[in-house]
Amino acid sequence: MPDAENKPKLTLKPEVPVVALKGLVMFPKITVPLLLSDPKAVAAIDSALASDRLAVFVAVKEDDLAEPQAKDLYQVGTVSKIVEAVKQPDGTMRLMIEGLERARVKEFTADSPFFKARAGLLPQRHEEKSEAVEAQMYAVVNQFKEAVNAGAPVPFDVLLVVMNLNDPWQLSDLVALNLDFRTEEKQKILEAEAVLSKLELVAAAIARQLKVLQLSKKLQTETGKELGKMEREMFLREQLKSIEKELGVLGGRTEVEELKAKIEKAGMPAEPKAIAEKELLRLQGMPSFSPEVSYIRTYLDWLVELPWSKKTESQIDVNAAKKILDSDHYGLEKVKERILEYLAVQKLVGRIRGPILCFAGPPGTGKTSLGKSIARALGRKFVRMSLGGVRDEAEIRGFRRTYVGALPGRIIQGVNQAGSKNPVFMLDEIDKLGADFRGDPSAALLEALDPEQNSAFSDHYLEVSFDLSDVMFITTANILDTVPPALRDRMEVIDFPGYTEEEKFHIAKQHLLPKLWEMHGLKPKQMVITEPAIRAVIRLYTLEAGVRNLERSLAAVCRKIAREVATGARGAVTIGVSDLAKYLGAPHFSHEEARGKGEVGVVTGLAWTEAGGEVLTIEAAKMPGAGKLIITGHLGQVMQESVEAAFSFARAFAKEEKIKDQFYKTSDVHVHVPAGAIPKDGPSAGIAIATALVSLVTDKPVKKAVAMTGEVTLRGRVLEIGGVKEKILAAHRAGVQTVILPEGNKKDLDDVPKEVRRSLKFIFAKTMDEVLKSAIQAR
Ligand code: ADP
Repeated sequence: MPDAENKPKLTLKPEVPVVALKGLVMFPKITVPLLLSDPKAVAAIDSALASDRLAVFVAVKEDDLAEPQAKDLYQVGTVSKIVEAVKQPDGTMRLMIEGLERARVKEFTADSPFFKARAGLLPQRHEEKSEAVEAQMYAVVNQFKEAVNAGAPVPFDVLLVVMNLNDPWQLSDLVALNLDFRTEEKQKILEAEAVLSKLELVAAAIARQLKVLQLSKKLQTETGKELGKMEREMFLREQLKSIEKELGVLGGRTEVEELKAKIEKAGMPAEPKAIAEKELLRLQGMPSFSPEVSYIRTYLDWLVELPWSKKTESQIDVNAAKKILDSDHYGLEKVKERILEYLAVQKLVGRIRGPILCFAGPPGTGKTSLGKSIARALGRKFVRMSLGGVRDEAEIRGFRRTYVGALPGRIIQGVNQAGSKNPVFMLDEIDKLGADFRGDPSAALLEALDPEQNSAFSDHYLEVSFDLSDVMFITTANILDTVPPALRDRMEVIDFPGYTEEEKFHIAKQHLLPKLWEMHGLKPKQMVITEPAIRAVIRLYTLEAGVRNLERSLAAVCRKIAREVATGARGAVTIGVSDLAKYLGAPHFSHEEARGKGEVGVVTGLAWTEAGGEVLTIEAAKMPGAGKLIITGHLGQVMQESVEAAFSFARAFAKEEKIKDQFYKTSDVHVHVPAGAIPKDGPSAGIAIATALVSLVTDKPVKKAVAMTGEVTLRGRVLEIGGVKEKILAAHRAGVQTVILPEGNKKDLDDVPKEVRRSLKFIFAKTMDEVLKSAIQAR
C-alpha cells in the first residue's frame, strides 16, 4: 500500500494562523529549527499551539521589511506542524517545525495580533521519474557537492542525505533550504508544479551561488599573494565591484556610496573627516566576509552620527531664564540666583567659563528637575548619565577599538544621545565614582569637564578629538565626602539642603499636584485635597529631606482617585485628613516620637547621611562586669573611637563629681546605636555619646525633646562639625524642640530657613558642661 494512504489525511481549519518568515522559505517533509522574535509570529505560534499545532509558514517578499503587511507576503507556503516550542525569557521563541504540505493562502482574514487566513492545500505531486529527471537530479547533486567544496557551509549529514535521496521533489527542497539562495529563488522552487522545471530552477540557483563562492575564494587567495600595492588595490576594487553586483545593490546605491554621502553630510572637522574617509577606503577593500567589516561599519556609524557641528539655538536671555526657573520650581532662591549669575557671565563672555557646577544634596531635592529647567531656559537639549559604580577609566573615555564590542565612553555616548554639541549634560552620582587598578575615572572626567581643556576631548574609541567646550556640564552628588578631591577642587558646589515642611507644602500644592493631575488625566475639581491633608501626608507618611516620597504618596492617591472616577464610582472626590488611611494605609511615622518622658542613658543625636539629615538614638546601658566597653550598631572606625573618647570623658567626669559607682571597674558598659539603615561614622556624635554615658553614671535622665551634635575631646571641649543645615532640618521634621550645637557652628545658622530657626531653640556649647546643663534633667 502506498505510504500516503496510511497517514491520516491533513485537513486545515477554515481559518489558520500564518507565520511570516524573513529570508527563509519553508519546505514540505523537512524538519527545521527556528528562532522567532517577531511578536506577531510568536502570537501566531501561541494560537496554533492552543489548537491543532498547525500553521502556514510563508516567506516575506523582501527580506528587510521592518513590518511586513499581508500584501508583502507570498501566497504559497508550507503547512507545518509545531513539534516543539520553547519561550525564552526575552519573549523570543525557539521552535522545531515539521513541514507537511504546500498550501496557498486564498484570503487573509486578519493581520493583528497575528496573520490569519483562509488557505487550501495544493495537490500532492506524483510523477513518474523519466530519464531526463534522473539526469537533472544527477547534475544537481554534483553541483551541490561542488558548492560544498567551494565553501558553502553545509553540515556533513545533509550532504550525505542529499547524495542518497531518490525523490526529486525532496532533493530540490533540501538543496534549496541548505544553500544561500535568494528568497525569490527559493519561493519559485517551492511553487514549481512540474518536477523537471523545479530541478532546473535549483540548478540555475546553484550555478549562481557557485559563481559567488568561487569569486570570493579567488579573492581570498589572490589577496594573500604579493602583488604590487597599486595593482592589488585595483584588483580588489574590481573584485569588490563584481561581488557587490552579485550580492545585490542597495536601492541603486552601494553601502559604500551611502556611507560616503553620510560622511559628507555629517559636518565633521577636517581631522575626523580624513579618518572617516581612510576607514571607508579600508572597508571598500575588504572582503565582505571579513569579521573586521562590521567593526569598521560600527565605527563609521559612530563617526557620522556624532553632532560635530550641530547646535541648538541658544540665546541667553537672563530675564526669560529667571521666569522659567521660577515657574518650574518653588523656593531654591539661592540656587536660582547662582545659576542666573552663571548664565549672565556666560552671556557676556560668549562661552562657558569658570568652574563646573555641582548640585549637592539628598535625593528628591530637585537637582535633576532644575537641570532640565536650565536646559529649557537655554533652549538646549538635556541629557543625563549616571556615574554610579563607574570604576574604570574606559567607561568615561571609551574602549580602544581593538577590543571586541568596543564602544565610546559615556561622555561621547551622552553627546550622541543629545544629538547636539551644546546640550546641558547632567552627570549624576559623581560621589559614587570608584577607582581601582583599571585606572582612575576621575582624571578622565576632569579632562572632559574642564572648560580649559575639553575643546579637544579624546575618546579611546573615536581616536579623534571631539570638542566638548559647548557642553554645559552639571554634576550631582548626595554627599561630598566621597567626591575625589581633584574633582572637588574644580567644582563649585551648590547646596540643595532639603526642604522645610512649609516649603514641601507649597511644592506639593503648586507643582507636584498639578503635574500629577495631568499625568493621571484628572481635572483639579475631580480631586480636591485639603490643606491639612497635604500637611498630614508630609508629616505622617514621609519623613525625608526631599520630596520624592511625597510625590510618590500623592501619586498613589491620584491613581486610586483616577480609578474611582474612571469606573464612574464617583464624580469628584474631596480628601481630608481622615480619608488618608483609606488611600495610603496607616501612617508610617508618628510625630510624637521626640516628645514624652526622658530616659536614663538615651540621647537623640543628629547624623548627616546621603539622604540628608537623620535623627539617631544613642543608647547606653551598664551591667555587672569588669569594665568592658561594648559597642554595637555597625559603627565606623571614627565613630568607635569617638565612643572610646566619650567613655574616657565620662570616667574623668565621674571622678571629678566624686561619683562613688566605680562603673569602669565593676560594670560592663554597652553603647548601642540602633537604626540599621543609617550609615554611622564620623566624630559628630561625640557629645551625644558622652551625654548618654554621663546620664548613665549619674543615673539622671536626658531631656527627650533635646537633640545634639558635636565632636568631643577628652577634656570635654566641644568641636565644630559639618552638615548643620541638614541636621537641623531633620531635627525640625522629627519634632525636636531644642538643638545643642558647637559654638563654632553658630555661623551655619544663617543658611537655615527662618521659619525653622524660629520654631527651634538653639544652645551653642563650648564645653561638655554646657551641654550637660541643658540636656540632663534634674532629678
Ligand atoms: P533629585 O534629582 O534631587 O533627586 P528630582 O529633581 O528628581 O530630585 O526631584 C524629585 C521631584 O520633586 C521632581 O518631580 C521635581 O520636579 C520635584 N521638585 C523638587 N523640588 C522642587 C521644587 N523646589 N519645586 C517644584 N518641584 C520640585
